[in-house]
Amino acid sequence: MTLVGIVGGGQLGMMLAEAGARIGIDCLTLDPAPDSPASRVAPAIVGAYDDEAALAELAAAADVVTYEFENVPVAAARFLAERVAVFPPPESLEFAQDRLLEKTLFEEVGLATAPFSPVSSKEELFEALEVVGVPSVLKTRRLGYDGKGQVRLASVDEAEDAWRAVGEVPSILESLVPFDRELSIIGVRGSNGEMAYYPLVENVHRDGILRVSIAPAPDVPSQLRSTAERHALAVMERLGHVGVLAIELFAVGDQLLGNEMAPRVHNSGHWTIEGAATSQFENHLRAICGLELGPTSASTYSAMVNLIGTVPPKGSIEAGPDVHLHLYGKASRPGRKLGHVTVIGPDPDTRDRVLGRVTQTADKE
Ligand code: AMP
Repeated sequence: MTLVGIVGGGQLGMMLAEAGARIGIDCLTLDPAPDSPASRVAPAIVGAYDDEAALAELAAAADVVTYEFENVPVAAARFLAERVAVFPPPESLEFAQDRLLEKTLFEEVGLATAPFSPVSSKEELFEALEVVGVPSVLKTRRLGYDGKGQVRLASVDEAEDAWRAVGEVPSILESLVPFDRELSIIGVRGSNGEMAYYPLVENVHRDGILRVSIAPAPDVPSQLRSTAERHALAVMERLGHVGVLAIELFAVGDQLLGNEMAPRVHNSGHWTIEGAATSQFENHLRAICGLELGPTSASTYSAMVNLIGTVPPKGSIEAGPDVHLHLYGKASRPGRKLGHVTVIGPDPDTRDRVLGRVTQTADKE
């Protein structure tokens, strides 16, 4: 029996532990909250991410350690890596935590990005505005997620307010992309370098938070898919990444721009639990445990709807073989991901009809 230690006990940790239980992999999580989502399905150490005693306890118990969110302190990952195998490597964390490093890495491997410029003072913001122009978006380099830590600028007059709004911390200014749609690619790399990719997914965001994923993304030319896979491969090889990695992309015409990456299982891959031959969670565990990867093909047409801020009343999400409800056991709070629903169908039209009903119910509060 292999024991995987997971830093973080959120819903991603919960779904990793659920996947592990089915294939003989036990999980143990570390999270500061005593009532984390993962603690509902797996044993948990309650402790801060920089608590060395807690980290040492996790390292001593586990055969391999992974993480389920990217803001785990890199120092904690390095502390763990001195005691136990840690996958993905701390370097993947380091790049994903800093938008400037991340975008520079994308450019280095040939994945184009929106024009951007680093900003570390108000003066530099004005200089950056001359290069990048408006409309643009000012994003903090660190600790931004789900649209937090970013402010849009429609004119140079908004610069001072924007600089204050991001908290006057190191940031990047990037050009607002008039994208046709948002896509993501989820790849998984085994410890022997074996690679597998899930089909591209189309994502719709609301207020900067992922709302719906459609999988596979409709009408993806094979050349676009192979370009996305080539970029994911290059990023993962460059980092020596082992496990799942997701890259969020803007599609503009037949061009792909890299927006950001997550060195972990990703919200736009939740559909793989019901909709793919092997889920992203199982494949992440397979990769970090040195097992052969499972097939990543879509087995049906899927869509995932996030339940954000509130959960529809019990019983209101229709039951059926084509509707799969996942609740994370978290307290309601505006903007918080509390669960998701995956709908599947034998063809896109059938799937879309069920999706329409589920999103309507999810929108009722
Ligand atoms: P992020 O936190 O960078 O993933 O941004 C959250 C969401 O805001 C993205 O998924 C997009 O919908 C939108 N967004 C972020 N950056 C840009 C950009 N440069 N151009 C257009 N939309 C953006």
